[in-house]
Amino acid sequence: MTSFEELGLSAATLKAIAELGYEEPTPIQARTIRRMLDGADVIAQAQTGTGKTAAFALPIIERLDTRSHHPQALVLTPTRELAVQVAEAFQAYGKYHQIAILPVYGGQPIERQLRALSRGVQVVVGTPGRLLDHIRRGTLALDQVRTVVLDEADEMLDMGFIEDIEAILQETPSERQTALFSATMPQPIVDLARRYLRDPERIIVQTEQMTVPQIRQVYYEVGGRDKFEVLARVLDYESPSSAIIFCRTKSEVDALGQRLTARAFPAETLHGDMTQVQRDRVMARFRSGQAELLVATDVAARGLDVEHVSHVINYDIPLDPEIYVHRIGRTGRAGRSGTAITLVTPRERRLLKLIERSTGAPIQRLRVPTIADVIARRRESFKETLRETIAAGGLEPYVSIAEDLGEEYSPTDLAAAAFKLLLGEPPEDAEDLLAEQEPDTTEEEGGRRPRRRREQSFGPERGMTRLYLDVGRNDGVRPADIVGAIANEANIPGRAVGAIELFEHFSFVEVPSNLAERVVRALKRTTIRGRPIAPSLARPRRATGGARSGERR
Ligand code: AMP
Repeated sequence: MTSFEELGLSAATLKAIAELGYEEPTPIQARTIRRMLDGADVIAQAQTGTGKTAAFALPIIERLDTRSHHPQALVLTPTRELAVQVAEAFQAYGKYHQIAILPVYGGQPIERQLRALSRGVQVVVGTPGRLLDHIRRGTLALDQVRTVVLDEADEMLDMGFIEDIEAILQETPSERQTALFSATMPQPIVDLARRYLRDPERIIVQTEQMTVPQIRQVYYEVGGRDKFEVLARVLDYESPSSAIIFCRTKSEVDALGQRLTARAFPAETLHGDMTQVQRDRVMARFRSGQAELLVATDVAARGLDVEHVSHVINYDIPLDPEIYVHRIGRTGRAGRSGTAITLVTPRERRLLKLIERSTGAPIQRLRVPTIADVIARRRESFKETLRETIAAGGLEPYVSIAEDLGEEYSPTDLAAAAFKLLLGEPPEDAEDLLAEQEPDTTEEEGGRRPRRRREQSFGPERGMTRLYLDVGRNDGVRPADIVGAIANEANIPGRAVGAIELFEHFSFVEVPSNLAERVVRALKRTTIRGRPIAPSLARPRRATGGARSGERR
């Protein structure tokens, strides 16, 4: 494996990449960047989403003369969306270089583009038609262009841009560097390359046939919906006993870990920046089952050996089929069953197809479970737990209660009443599962409520809303501090505060639903033991998850 350092990139570029959380180059990057830094022409056959933008943008940025304000690099893209996206990528990768980038495309007022061009830009990204417009008007000077990139060349061919592309290439200096990126290599693209590229190296990212373990492979399309909400729903539905969730970057790992924890999914995170001691601690918690979810990057998860992973979840689809195979190989070990779940955005559909093609195994599309599905699943698993409890025996202490009441009520009514106590009201149950819990406003403000211990509770007490606070035992916080902060800041009686659970880094507190918003607002303004509290509505605990370790009062 090559590292970004080994590719010969400058410290400024390495810093920008590190901030984006990229841990190592993708195969296309590893093979293209060095060639392009040397000034050579390349033809790269690579799918969208394989990291091709950085493959050409990083070497272009390195080779720019930032003192000159003439366009030095020209990137041709088939669509305006791609032009904007590529320009944004340049901006991010070039964060520590003084460079100006301009996307130009039809549909945007040309005056704005003219103004930007006259101020001076070094990189122009655009669709062939609009670029040609500017060239013909004499508003885009190409005499200093050193590199031209044809991005998604096959798409541009399909859209009828081939003549425009040739016209543009003819206007650029003949000693330029040319890089052609295309998912497929139809004959007209091959011919174009033959005419306009000089001794190019052909880079094909191998997609060898790979074998995948015999596990259930499914995917969910995430469309416009928030990816995180889909993940939360899928986790509720699948209720994995132990899952590794993969993200593409370190920053995404951190962000996802925090969001999961805030929604009461016990998650640990693992990435390349952590020390061995930190890693060992995380792995110990994951192996012992204290944390059900491990959020990790590929690099961090390399060499990880965990026996009992029930689910591998690709929160970000891997850019390389080989990585997919590595990832999903972490479940279904030692003959156990396993599930691999991938979240796929519309743009990533082609990557999914690429993975299916290189593994030869179809990945089944599933509909995102509805709340009703989750409830049905929970009921099924509740029934299963009951069966197991009966089979395990030890019911004697409870039999006399059943017998006493058995004279008055039918066994069905008796059991149903007990289930209701355990599971809560069905409509509330459904609402509990909704991400954005609406505070219930039926209670009297500031009313006194009994503070019961509920070791086996599956959600907040009736009329109470559970809040997540970003402070925990390790911050020196005690239950009394939380009650005090709520009472003083939100100006409600301390006795109205319900159950508190303290964990190492965060805590939960139940407050009357009608006051929840007020408490959140008040706690946002204050600190406990000098630490900001970052309160938010908590996700209810899951019925199948059992009691978690924590300090209840
Ligand atoms: P692209 O194929 O250029 O559209 O890139 C697809 C996605 O992968 C983008 O979201 C990039 O930010 C991301 N990406 C590109 N290179 C890397 C890398 N080396 N490590 C992690 N993510 C990357």
